[in-house]
Amino acid sequence: MKVLDADFVRGFIHMADDGWLQGWHEANAGNISYRIKKWEVESIREELEPREWQPIGVKVPNLAWEFFLITGAGKDFRNVKMHPEDCLCIIEIDGLGENYRVCWGLVNGGRPTSELETHLMNQDVKIGVTNGKCRVIYHAHPANVIALSYVLPLKDEVFTRELWECALVFPEAVGVLPWMVPGESDIAIATGELMKQYNVAVWAHHGCFVAGENYDRVFGLMHAVEKSAEIRVKVRSMDNVTELKMTPEELVRFSKYFGVDVPEKFLF
Ligand code: 13P
Ligand code: ZN
Repeated sequence: MKVLDADFVRGFIHMADDGWLQGWHEANAGNISYRIKKWEVESIREELEPREWQPIGVKVPNLAWEFFLITGAGKDFRNVKMHPEDCLCIIEIDGLGENYRVCWGLVNGGRPTSELETHLMNQDVKIGVTNGKCRVIYHAHPANVIALSYVLPLKDEVFTRELWECALVFPEAVGVLPWMVPGESDIAIATGELMKQYNVAVWAHHGCFVAGENYDRVFGLMHAVEKSAEIRVKVRSMDNVTELKMTPEELVRFSKYFGVDVPEKFLF
């Protein structure tokens, strides 16, 4: 089968375009990685042509010999749908989890996203904590989440409580990192630490990383987080209302009704 005919590739392109239409991906902002299933790799094997091995920069032993579909560095999201073979690539990880090689895509040159280290670190952590279920890592620049990071204390508890006011699609809460230089190993390792516990990691003054089993879960999660942030920004902008309306008891009743556990330290 041709790579561009495979369902996992079509779903990836669909999600990239949806994110662009939401306004979360100005220019080349944001990136996506999908861990390809073994049978999906076999279905497109005829088109894979491995290039040179390159160092990843961090160690990801859980990802040995895994393949990923991933966005390219500096590629505009609005072009993904029109020129996927230029904007995307498929990479393979070596047996030590230290190197990768491009096997498809980037037909006009380039390299995988500059956030490759964070994507692979998150994928490595999530394979362990979800028993292999997690496959998608998604980074976007949603304006309201970023705006809140200029106003709220950069604490997991505070961000979680503010965002829980509007939705509970993320009962395991939200992690927050202070501003750090993007693209480097330090931010990759720090985000990986958050992903041991959360599916959402806010990068202050920059954007958001989310993790999930498939494109629908991940896109829905980003959407829910950003919509919650938008409502909080609007409410705070009107008369500077900062009071939280949902009581801890109401949050517990709400979460019990939907059968999800909410950690107690976020209930105040
Ligand atoms: P890339 O174009 O390298 O994916 O970078 C975009 C981005 O959002 C960096 O944080
Ligand atoms: Zn970014």
